[in-house]
Amino acid sequence: MKIISDIQELRDHLRGQNRASFVPTMGNLHEGHLSLMRLARQHGDPVVASIFVNRLQFGPNEDFDSYPRTMQADIDKLEKEGVYILFAPTERDLYPQPQEYRVDPPQQLGDILEGEFRPGFFKGVCTVVLKLLSCVQPQVAVFGKKDYQQLMIIRQMAKQFALPVDIVPGETIRAEDGLALSSRNSYLSSAERTEAPELQKVLKEARARVLDLSERNDHALNEIEKVAISTLTRRGWNPDYIAIRQQSDLARPSNESLQTGEGLVILTAAKLGKTRLIDNLEI
Ligand code: AMP
Repeated sequence: MKIISDIQELRDHLRGQNRASFVPTMGNLHEGHLSLMRLARQHGDPVVASIFVNRLQFGPNEDFDSYPRTMQADIDKLEKEGVYILFAPTERDLYPQPQEYRVDPPQQLGDILEGEFRPGFFKGVCTVVLKLLSCVQPQVAVFGKKDYQQLMIIRQMAKQFALPVDIVPGETIRAEDGLALSSRNSYLSSAERTEAPELQKVLKEARARVLDLSERNDHALNEIEKVAISTLTRRGWNPDYIAIRQQSDLARPSNESLQTGEGLVILTAAKLGKTRLIDNLEI
């Protein structure tokens, strides 16, 4: 595997490759990331991965400085997956000047759910993803459904800018007890780690309630959201949101999707101690 930090050197290595597939990450790789590398392999060749902890998407009180950085272990994992190039730019490589041009996603997608609790987050994400896509110029880029709203926003960005890339979604990989793998799980104490799978359990209960409803309407969905939030709160969590939305645009469900109960997704973010976890479940 070639490890490259310089944009020009990356371009030199990829010249003439028109079927590259790309998996951007912030490193501290786990099975979830590696599953995306395997998916990328099915969709193109060569596979290019990136590791870059993107300052632009972290709020002032968030964990940019303490975000786990495990470059050598990550390199070993990517070597085993047969990744061809690891693009690992420094901040100076990727942002040689202050990044003053930014991509601002529309409010109805970028300022709801995660965007409400992490102002500017998706602006930082879209800006770095557009820049990384411009550096790598892949035919395919793979993103995990674990970050459901991010996947949606990047898909829309690629569509509206007519980017010549297919955005491919990867399923969420979980630990045996149901907890979605995440770099931030390493912040959990052992007691918190035991409690953490409850987040997915609460989503499953909410899904069962939605499917059992004899009459699905806005009010009934609100009640289900409220019950889920109070279940977590009673167990010592601090939920930011639990929201039942349409998969297609993350808007509140229309009458049609309410009737079938299909095409819905339940999204959540909640703090357990100091650690903020996100998860979702499609219905
Ligand atoms: P990150 O390094 O957290 O920015 O994630 C890089 C990519 O891996 C994103 O597309 C994430 O959605 C994806 N990802 C993170 N966790 C998982 C998981 N448990 N299963 C599948 N994909 C994941």
